[in-house]
Amino acid sequence: MKKITFVGIVCVALSSCGGKQNSETKAAADMNPQFEKYKSSFIEELWKTYPGWASSQGYHKYDSLLVVPDDASRVKELAFLKANLDSLKIVDLGGLSDNNKTDYYMIENQLKSIEWTINEEKIYQWNPSEYNVSGAFAEILNGNYDSLDVRLHNFYLKMANIPAFYEAAKKNIKNPTIEHTQLAIDQNLGGISVFEKDFVDALSKVNFGENEKKRMEYRANESVKAIRDFANWLKKLDNKTPRSFRLGKDLYAKKFEFDIQSGYTVDQIYEKALTHKNELHQKMFVLADKLWSKYMGKELKPNDTLALIRQVIDKISQKHLKPEEFQKDIERQIPILVDFIKQKDLIYIDPSKPLVVRKEPDYMAGVAGASISAPGPYDKGGNTYYNVGSLSGWNKEKSESYLREYNYYILQILNIHEAIPGHYTQLVYSNQSPSLIKSLFGNSAMIEGWAVYSERMMLENGYGNNEDEMWLMYYKWNLRSTCNTILDYSVHTKEMTKEAAMDLLMNQAFQQKTEAEGKWRRVNVTQVQLCCYFTGYTEIYDFREELKKQMSDKFNLKQFHEKFLSYGSSPVKYIKELMISEIDKK
Ligand code: ZN
Ligand code: ZN
Repeated sequence: MKKITFVGIVCVALSSCGGKQNSETKAAADMNPQFEKYKSSFIEELWKTYPGWASSQGYHKYDSLLVVPDDASRVKELAFLKANLDSLKIVDLGGLSDNNKTDYYMIENQLKSIEWTINEEKIYQWNPSEYNVSGAFAEILNGNYDSLDVRLHNFYLKMANIPAFYEAAKKNIKNPTIEHTQLAIDQNLGGISVFEKDFVDALSKVNFGENEKKRMEYRANESVKAIRDFANWLKKLDNKTPRSFRLGKDLYAKKFEFDIQSGYTVDQIYEKALTHKNELHQKMFVLADKLWSKYMGKELKPNDTLALIRQVIDKISQKHLKPEEFQKDIERQIPILVDFIKQKDLIYIDPSKPLVVRKEPDYMAGVAGASISAPGPYDKGGNTYYNVGSLSGWNKEKSESYLREYNYYILQILNIHEAIPGHYTQLVYSNQSPSLIKSLFGNSAMIEGWAVYSERMMLENGYGNNEDEMWLMYYKWNLRSTCNTILDYSVHTKEMTKEAAMDLLMNQAFQQKTEAEGKWRRVNVTQVQLCCYFTGYTEIYDFREELKKQMSDKFNLKQFHEKFLSYGSSPVKYIKELMISEIDKK
């Protein structure tokens, strides 16, 4: 029975565009060469339309251009989107390889998503923080892809449109939200130093003539004036009916479809997150209860189960490293993770592409924690770095809170998530089926979902020796992504108050106050993004369990992982369809 259902799903998906039914019955002509050609010209057009996006991806041909976001440019943008959606309609999906099929779906989704953002979501009207030029200019100064002379000239040319840019922004903005207005003021004023300081410093390092330098400095001054003027305009804006920062049910559901591209609806995911949260609480209680006397001695147990869990967690969290030991310890742990995976035969790890652990570079300082920096799609030979935060300049209280959060146990789970077999391993696999489209439009739920899935998979296979402490801490960590989803959905579609949000994060997810406050600020200015972790994780985990049942003793975990990652950063629902259709063919 099950098998028939699967085949059904595959047929629907591959012939969803009208007129393609024939591709299932007769062998389709090879459309791949034609589609490859289309993709190259599409990306070239994409960069012409979005020069700022191009620069941020490491494509610098259009560095000197700044698009003025007025009505005329939106008309041009919509025409670009429509023309490409029309081009996609005539592609015969049946003649495409798996790699190109998923590319096709991702291009289509991206185009429709931008169209929707302009026509329906209208973010250009209510989110003033969309208008901020400093980041793109900072990147030109910091990048080392070209000589400083060339970069400064592009910087100068690009500045020409800054006054017009902010004039157009003022015309676009209507009833903005209070939160995004404040964010725009802060970020724009914060970015002024790029023109006032960084640019001036850089000018002192080149041999341009005095007149030329004067011209450049004059333009930088005009830019600073335009940015200040915009911030002041926002401060004084007569905004009697500000839009709510809450996206609302209909827009939220649609944005979830575009950004997450899940096989589940957002309501299904929300229900799953609620159930999962309760399951985690139950499991955590069993462990915390068992560990009570080890950590709390003869102290009386509280009646409230959540309070009991919290007290045990707080005690275990005191086992943590000193900040100066972080990098060394991460360097020590990476080969241990690799050995464990080899010994348990979980997934092949290419030894020729080592991960470089480093102290986080200065321009990233303050973000803290650990993160992966991968080379962009136009920088193929570049290293992949594991950036480790230094906590230098932090006060005692703040760094202690951070160290407890990233305690002895959580730090190991973080290494699994960020590095092996999480983000870094996924990246190595996705580079083996190179697709510029997937590097640019990679699905966040698949990427984050894989990292979150890999944490559980490692523990299931015995990483951490099945210690109760390790599992308890893992559950706490997993609660974070689970509650991110509950929070995001509840705030944007169910009017969740700040008070209720803080209760969820602090009392039900055991987070520190500063962490919870930060999350509240984040959910005020972003929408849907916080759902990607739990959604992707749930889809991958459910899919694995489904396959296990279907294949019974033919199921092989290592093969599952390698096959799953071979499709690159595509949405899980497409990977699932393609994997199942291949199994059915055997
Ligand atoms: Zn401590
Ligand atoms: Zn991640």
